[in-house]
Amino acid sequence: YTPGGSKVTEEKILVTIRMRPLNSREHAKYDLIAWECPDDQTIVFKNPNPERPATKYSFDKVFEPTCATQEVYEGGSRDVALSALAGTNATIFAYGQTSSGKTFTMRGVTESVVKDIYEHIRNTQERRFVLKVSALEIYNETVVDLLNRDSGYLRLLDDPEKGTIVENLVEKVVESRQHLQHLIRTCEDHRQVGETALNDQSSRSHQIIRLTIQSSLREIAGCVQSFMATLNLVDLAGSERACQTNADGLRLKEGSHINRSLLTLTTVIRKLSSGRRSDHVPYRDSKLTRILQNSLGGNARTAIICTISPALSHVEQTKKTLSFAMSAK
Ligand code: ADP
Ligand code: MG
Repeated sequence: YTPGGSKVTEEKILVTIRMRPLNSREHAKYDLIAWECPDDQTIVFKNPNPERPATKYSFDKVFEPTCATQEVYEGGSRDVALSALAGTNATIFAYGQTSSGKTFTMRGVTESVVKDIYEHIRNTQERRFVLKVSALEIYNETVVDLLNRDSGYLRLLDDPEKGTIVENLVEKVVESRQHLQHLIRTCEDHRQVGETALNDQSSRSHQIIRLTIQSSLREIAGCVQSFMATLNLVDLAGSERACQTNADGLRLKEGSHINRSLLTLTTVIRKLSSGRRSDHVPYRDSKLTRILQNSLGGNARTAIICTISPALSHVEQTKKTLSFAMSAK
C-alpha cells in the first residue's frame, strides 16, 4: 500500500560526487591531485598537459575532500532517506571504484539515517512507528543473509503482491536506536569475516541494509491511516567490476557475475533517468535489481553518491565513474 496512490511525476535521481582526500599510499608515491571543484556543482579534470582542454562535469552537488560525511549526507541523501518516513520507498547507493570511499561514506550515511529516524519518531508523537531491519550481501549472484550467515544461499521468490522476496531472510523488529546500531554492526562484522575468507570479497560484493518503516496514526477509534516503506542503504561492489576483465577460470566467472548485477544496475539507472516510459527496464536480469525493483524508479526515490579518488593515477577509473554519474542524472 502506498499513500496517495501512484505518483505520475518522474522523480529525478539525485546524483552527487564525493572526492576523498589523497591517502597515505598516494602521498608516498607523490601522486598528484588531478581534479578541482570551482564550485559545489562542478568538477574539472586538471589536465597535466596544458595543450589539452580541461574536462568539466556538472552534478547536483560535488563534495570536496574536506567535506565531512554529515555534509555529504545532508546535501546528497537526507531528503531521500526522510521520504521513507513519509511512506515512499527509497534507495541510497554508493558507487565507485574500490578504495574510493564507498564503505566509509555509507557507514556515515547509515549512522545519520539512524539518528534522523529516531529524531523523527520522537518528534511525531501522533504516529506509531514499527521499524524492521534486514541485511544481505550479493556475491557472485548468490544472496547471503548478513543477520544470519548460517542460513547459506537464499533464493529469490516472486510474490504476487510483494514482488520479489528473499526467501528466509531474517527481518528483526528493532527495539531501540541502540538495538538498531548493534544489528548494523553485526552485519558489518559478518561482512568482514567474508573479507578475510577471501581477501577482496568486499570489492566484489554488494551489501544492502534494508529498513522497513511502518507507521500508523494513533487514533482512539475509526480509520487508522497507515503506510509502509522501505529504505535501502547500498554499498556496491567496486565499479571497476563493471568493466570486462581479461582473466579466465574462476576469476572470469566471478567477474562476469559481478558484472551482471552491477552492469544491470547501471543499465536500469540509465533507463530510468532517460525518462522514456516506453523503455523496457531490465530489472529481472540480476539479483541486485530484482531485489531493489520496488525501491527504484516509479514510485520510489533514489540517491547515488559516486565516490572518487582525487589521484592522477586513478584518472581513468574516475572518468568512468563520472560518466556513469552523468548518465544517471
Ligand atoms: P571502498 O569501500 O570504496 O573500497 P573505503 O570506504 O574502504 O573504500 O575507503 C578506503 C580507505 O580510504 C579507507 O581506509 C577509508 O577510511 C579511507 N577514506 C575513504 N573516504 C574517505 C574520506 N572522505 N575521508 C577520509 N578517509 C577516507
Ligand atoms: Mg568497501
